[in-house]
Amino acid sequence: MSAPIERIKTLIIGSGPAGYTAAIYAARADLKPVVYTGMEPGGQLTTTTEVDNFPGYPEGIDGPTMMVQLQQQAERFGTEVRIGMITGIELSDEVGGIHTATVDNDKKIEAETVIISTGASAKYLNIPSEQRLRGGGVSACAVCDGFFYKGQDVAIVGGGDTAAEEASYLANICNKVTMLVRKDHMRASKAMQHRVNSLENIEVRYNTEVDEVLGDQVVEGLRMVNNQTGEKDDIAITGLFIAIGHTPNTSIFKGQLDMDETGYLITKGKSTKTNKPGVFACGDSQDKEYRQAVTAAGTGCMAALDAERYLATIETPEEEVA
Ligand code: NDP
Repeated sequence: MSAPIERIKTLIIGSGPAGYTAAIYAARADLKPVVYTGMEPGGQLTTTTEVDNFPGYPEGIDGPTMMVQLQQQAERFGTEVRIGMITGIELSDEVGGIHTATVDNDKKIEAETVIISTGASAKYLNIPSEQRLRGGGVSACAVCDGFFYKGQDVAIVGGGDTAAEEASYLANICNKVTMLVRKDHMRASKAMQHRVNSLENIEVRYNTEVDEVLGDQVVEGLRMVNNQTGEKDDIAITGLFIAIGHTPNTSIFKGQLDMDETGYLITKGKSTKTNKPGVFACGDSQDKEYRQAVTAAGTGCMAALDAERYLATIETPEEEVA
């Protein structure tokens, strides 16, 4: 006979600032949360070095340390953190219904409430030289890593609001910023374009793409190609920032949860409620606008409070809950 399926009150999928903050609140509310970490325990912050903009750390803190501390804080109140990936899920349509998740394509787990904090992943160009130099001068987060290029020459790829914002940010720190926009115009808002154009040390190159990132161990230069003329041009840089958008990690929810055309989960009003009862979304999985650790943490708190209120409104016989 196969083992009975484990049933829990609150399943938290993802272990970034949103997931751990949801866990801290859910554990303190006695929801006995179980966090499945996903492929990148600690989330995007573990790929950054110094975090200087999270309130409460006057001297800054490095991303991996911050995530370990958030995990410890969640565990202190009884959160169970498990290394594993939720690879499939069946969400119930019923109020009080049970949701069934598959862990690592194998084990099933049942949950009364599900908090989705699966985050988003930065898009890369996916050319070999870029992939080889990730961590050696290629970054997808200017706000995280720009400081290391103080006074140096860098380049940024992208023509959206993120690229424009990050180019302006880098222009304050670096000597010169070359911005590569693949079309003959930027997609960024007029206000952001104006900001970019007003900064003397940003050079915008339209119709321009990355041909190759130059350098062996670290970035030493960039070979650019004009996609109209085919003309190539090399510049010396020490840092290359990729700002071509993010992909929310929501593919397992497709067909079950409402999402926008780019895959971001849609929540109701100011809450974290999704279109399924007992299923809540927080952090970057539902936010393409702010995408900060502190805003993710804030929505993680909201998701736990929404889950707690939801559970309070349904009646569950004691013996059904592990
Ligand atoms: P966007 O999808 O808006 O823009 C992506 C940019 O990257 C586009 O210019 C796109 O070019 C370019 N791009 C995509 N793929 C490639 C590629 N392979 N090679 C070269 N260039 C590429 O993403 P953002 O992250 O900029 O913004 C996401 C959302 O967040 C938007 O809604 C934005 O308005 C919002 N946002 C708002 C901010 C604010 O208001 N302060 C700040 C940051 C983001 P193309 O135009 O040719 O497709």
